[in-house]
Amino acid sequence: MATGFLNIDLGALVSNWQALNAKCDGKAGAVVKANGYGLGAGRVSGALAAAGATKFFVAAAEEGAKVRQAVGQDAEIYVFSGHGPTDTGIIAEQNLIPLINSLDQMTRHFETLAGHPFGIQLDTGMNRLGMEMSEWQAVAPIALEQGPKLVMSHLACADEPDHPMNAYQLDVFKKMTDGITVPRSLAATGGILLGKEYHFDVTRPGIGIYGAAPFGDATPVVKLDLPIIQTRDLAEGEVVGYGNSWQASRPSIIATVAGGYADGILRAISNRGALWSGSTRCPIVGRVSMDLITVDVTDLEHVPDALTLIGPHQSADDLADVAGTIGYEILTSLAARYKRKYVQP
Ligand SMILES: *Cc1c(COP(=O)(O)O)cnc(C)c1O
Repeated sequence: MATGFLNIDLGALVSNWQALNAKCDGKAGAVVKANGYGLGAGRVSGALAAAGATKFFVAAAEEGAKVRQAVGQDAEIYVFSGHGPTDTGIIAEQNLIPLINSLDQMTRHFETLAGHPFGIQLDTGMNRLGMEMSEWQAVAPIALEQGPKLVMSHLACADEPDHPMNAYQLDVFKKMTDGITVPRSLAATGGILLGKEYHFDVTRPGIGIYGAAPFGDATPVVKLDLPIIQTRDLAEGEVVGYGNSWQASRPSIIATVAGGYADGILRAISNRGALWSGSTRCPIVGRVSMDLITVDVTDLEHVPDALTLIGPHQSADDLADVAGTIGYEILTSLAARYKRKYVQP
């Protein structure tokens, strides 16, 4: 069967990283978790390493191997989830740097991999990962004696510049880390855009590199075309798809397109979203099914081989708005079965 065609512009990706890196005076690492936000952790990390990135961040130790292979032995690869019970082997083999989240993890790290590099993750109010103030105060002397590579925390509301949580977390982070000599990191993409006081020594952009909000000046990285498998003519009054949720109010041409919710095209955009042919909007009619979408192409002068779901007239963020989600979810849901083409920088 035909599958979608995903074009990934590594040149745009690199220019987004460079633009973010320039905003924070060359302090940017790169977050490549979740298979490089769906775009391919190996390809993405390799391109960014070639452009000068030296610090990479993944969510789980298992994700580190692919990145290590792409970036070589010298780059630093940090693991947000830290050092879990099953992570010791892979941390050692791939030379990963766990970001220690608790006293438990710290004990495990020192007992199993004494002398192996580590970082510290602090919780400054998000209540997700990291040590809180009291725990940190208790272990800081021991931890600092072992020379952590990085001390970091994460902002909960950085995509809302006016949110009072930003200044609050900045203040807590300073209270927890002022006076220590270890490099510090607080900002992801949103935090970079908040300004210099949030940058500290290292920043951790993710989504902005991949061309999505909140980095408004990003260059789009992804284009997704879905092939048309079949078209048919409908008379006024005929219905389309599961549940007969759409009925033709005029004689219509309906294209059946390869791609469905199994490809990360969220079912929530049934009868609401659209695909594009050049600059013509072609509405999705009927329900998105597992592998197929039905699209009203009546207004096209001629029916093309494929329609565009993500492209110049509809960004991943636009699509996210229609589905009631965020660009992050659209990108990380992109199907493994799409044919992928990488455009080199
Ligand atoms: C995902 C993540 C990032 C990157 O965030 P973006 O909003 O994609 O830039 C940075 N730090 C941590 C801890 C994360 O979980």
